[in-house]
Amino acid sequence: MLQLGAYAAGRWIDPDDSARNMHSAVTGAVVARGGARLDMGEMIDHAVTVGGPALRAMDFHQRARMLKALAQYLDGRKEELYALNPLSGATRADGWIDIDGGIGTMFVFASKGRRDMPEGQIHLDGDLEQLSRGGTFLGQHVAVPLHGVAVHINAFNFPVWGMLEKLAPTLLAGVPAIVKPATATAYLAHAAFRMMIDSGLLPDGAVQLVIGSTGDLLDRLGPQDVVSFTGSADTAFLLRSNPSLLRRGTRFIAEQDSLNCSILGPDVTHDAPEFDLFVKEVAREMTAKAGQKCTAIRRIIVPRAMLDPVGDAIAARLAQTRIGDPVLETTRMGALVSKAQKADVSEKLAAFAGEVQPVFIGDTLTIEAEAPEAGAFLPPSLYRCADPDAATRVHEIEAFGPAATLMPYRDLAHAAQIANRGGGSLVASVITHDTDVARSIVQHSGPWHGRIYINDRDSMGEATGHGSPLPHMTHGGPGRAGGGEEMGGIRGVMHYMQRVAVQGSPRMISAVIGQWVTGAPEIDPPTHPFQLTFDEIEIGHTINTDKRIITLDDIEHFARFTGDTFYAHMDEAAAAANPFFPGRVAHGYLLLSFAAGLFVQPDPGPVLANTGLNALSFQKPVSPGDALWVRLTARRKTRRTEAYGEVRWNATLYNQNDEQVAEYELLTMVAYSR
Ligand code: NAP
Repeated sequence: MLQLGAYAAGRWIDPDDSARNMHSAVTGAVVARGGARLDMGEMIDHAVTVGGPALRAMDFHQRARMLKALAQYLDGRKEELYALNPLSGATRADGWIDIDGGIGTMFVFASKGRRDMPEGQIHLDGDLEQLSRGGTFLGQHVAVPLHGVAVHINAFNFPVWGMLEKLAPTLLAGVPAIVKPATATAYLAHAAFRMMIDSGLLPDGAVQLVIGSTGDLLDRLGPQDVVSFTGSADTAFLLRSNPSLLRRGTRFIAEQDSLNCSILGPDVTHDAPEFDLFVKEVAREMTAKAGQKCTAIRRIIVPRAMLDPVGDAIAARLAQTRIGDPVLETTRMGALVSKAQKADVSEKLAAFAGEVQPVFIGDTLTIEAEAPEAGAFLPPSLYRCADPDAATRVHEIEAFGPAATLMPYRDLAHAAQIANRGGGSLVASVITHDTDVARSIVQHSGPWHGRIYINDRDSMGEATGHGSPLPHMTHGGPGRAGGGEEMGGIRGVMHYMQRVAVQGSPRMISAVIGQWVTGAPEIDPPTHPFQLTFDEIEIGHTINTDKRIITLDDIEHFARFTGDTFYAHMDEAAAAANPFFPGRVAHGYLLLSFAAGLFVQPDPGPVLANTGLNALSFQKPVSPGDALWVRLTARRKTRRTEAYGEVRWNATLYNQNDEQVAEYELLTMVAYSR
């Protein structure tokens, strides 16, 4: 039997007499034991005084690299986790969502951290705001890590993914965490947690682990702390109403249960590819992880005429699903996590039995396990609700197992109405090939669902599945689903940071954010900046080029050479009739090319490549006879590889009257050495 120690203030603490037993979902045997009375004050103090400062001493990119190393470390040892996985009743495929899914999420945050966050301590949120006419007073929203601790309370169904999808954005933000996994499957979370500690990759105090009760942890939290909860709506309600949390304004993020649905579009006929797709997705969502997925489809909303064909097709698939011991290769659906969970699902199904009729009830005699009655096996069941408008409980009660209910709709508006009766869900899917159907559902159901998954013949080969939350997209939903929004790339990191509206002069803003902004001091470089290495280039290094007169000949030559003979460049009368131009004008692309000719230093040097150009705007027409000059300023530097980094330059193009005619951001890769 596994003895699961807690990890508090940098040391492992053995289970004590408050420890609880954990059972195999398959045999019912006790497989692990964990829980200890912990000094929560000491744990918070350790996180805030040791973990927080150590994490904040690193910049976003260092923390992102730490996440990548951590994900690689876990990936190399994941078979140890797969070995424990069947104890929870999960098949290898279920485990893949949990284990590989969790590690993959960490990898995504590691790469997003380097791509979408600065190599510094202050994250920019949105663009610069011009707050004064003369440009001497600006505003910029920034985000900085909270100085408290994140308390993660996780659900039993995805012990590894649930822990890693919360830890990745928290650690990337620079905030230490205290993790409390659900007791039923804590042995899996514990094993993954232990690996992270053993890796030595995390600074002391960055993570701690509670097994069992959280004691008075929540009562001790303050305004810089965050509780991120995943679990049932009832527990969320209990925890979020904690008076200390309310009084001190502690952030509370909740991912709760949800009556998710899938809608079959009215365009889908029996022989359309979308019909099979719908049936497959629904059956898969009902049986993956034995229906214990927060995103599983609970309500199947179909046109009235399709009720029987869809019901028959799903029932046929469910009948083929082999249920049994998850270690058997033939098993497609394992057991629920515990007998208590099985009893809970049966009770919930009974609670709305008066509103539905059974379509298919799986046969317990087909369960392939040594002693089926010892495990928490529950075959899938499919119901139909003839009058979803009159029904109430089937829209409210989440039976967290392999069960779903078919509901007929009259028209699209009715389908949306039924979908929204769940009171707020994590995900609604719509299987349709008709773009009008998809748009209508997004418009009429969007406010009630955190995610809308649209699938058809075009995307079905690559679509990731109704039930898969992706680290790039937000995961959460309104109302009943908790109102939370996890992941979603850097959006998920923001839960652990404070947004600050910073106001000041361009010089001040530039210094605070570590980027040059228009109006901040310009610095004379010792030589042409294209001859300086990455480290020698200073933010604010500026060159002002010579002028170049643009002739009609230049314009005609460029037009012939490129084939761009648009009338604004070639036809005086037509150009003059256009409200934007005084007459024939230079091509914008000609200006860009001449600009490069003006600012480039041609000799081989540390500048390796021009990799792009952002935010280009042409602001004033340039006529033949005008003179063009460029101001080029080093705006932002980011290390990219061992050999070179990215330097972004602000390029502003002016005419002979020093009026701005164009502006853009130029991206270059610059070597660290010559
Ligand atoms: P749960 O019973 O609500 O428990 C969730 C977590 O809260 C567990 O870690 C549990 O610990 C802890 N907890 C319970 N009472 C507590 C208290 N008084 N103080 C501190 N912590 C407490 O939910 P579950 O049965 O584990 O998970 C199933 C539910 O989670 C389903 O309803 C499902 O829809 C939902 N879920 C939602 C998402 C999502 O992302 N929205 C994801 C997965 C699951 P113990 O285990 O020690 O009691």
